Amino acid sequence: MFDHMDIVLSAAMIVAQIGLGILFADLMSGIVHWYIDTYGDPKTPILGQHVYWPTINHHARPLDCTRASFWSRYGPNLALSLVFLAAFIALGWLNAFTLSALATGMFASEIHVWNHKPKRKRPPLVHWLQRRGVLLSPKEHWQHHTHAHNTRYCTVTNLLNPVIDRLRLFRLVEGCVEGLARRKPRDEIMGIGPLARGRRIMSRARRFVAAHAWQARRALTAPLARRVLA
Ligand SMILES: [Zn+2]
Ligand SMILES: [Zn+2]
Repeated sequence: MFDHMDIVLSAAMIVAQIGLGILFADLMSGIVHWYIDTYGDPKTPILGQHVYWPTINHHARPLDCTRASFWSRYGPNLALSLVFLAAFIALGWLNAFTLSALATGMFASEIHVWNHKPKRKRPPLVHWLQRRGVLLSPKEHWQHHTHAHNTRYCTVTNLLNPVIDRLRLFRLVEGCVEGLARRKPRDEIMGIGPLARGRRIMSRARRFVAAHAWQARRALTAPLARRVLA
């Protein structure tokens, strides 16, 4: 006979493992993103061209990722997830936690791209989950782009970023790396060089002009459209 308590406990354990798997993938996305933004060198063989450069270029051209091909968006995450899947199968580590982490990791790139798409191009469920912070929301992710690209590194949910930034965990690690290995964060990505400052000013100016042009166009065309439809 089934013990109802056992069933409830097993279900709760599976749900907890799935939740922890998602958070683990979120943390990993933050660590990988931080590493690339801080130390990634585009001249590194293979990784430089296929992983580091697209991530670094994303700061200068945030909307390019929405036009990238399916494989350039999914390829690296898919390849990495399959390698880990094979390793977990070989080690007998396949469970709700590892499967949830792998599935989330596989889609982490797409979850990030949704933040750069207009609302009408995002699936309604995604928009709903973003509004509740279950998935990374555009408002949250934009802080990474508007600040010096040195906060809000996690790209899956809204849950870990505020905690990591409040505790200044990545600054702490950077201080340790600099102290122990004499390796400094890359200036232009950290936003402490004149090049980064100039790029940020230009980016803000472009956004300001684009936002006002859009508002002006809407103000001019809306009455006309109403008259045509009336
Ligand atoms: Zn982005
Ligand atoms: Zn970044």
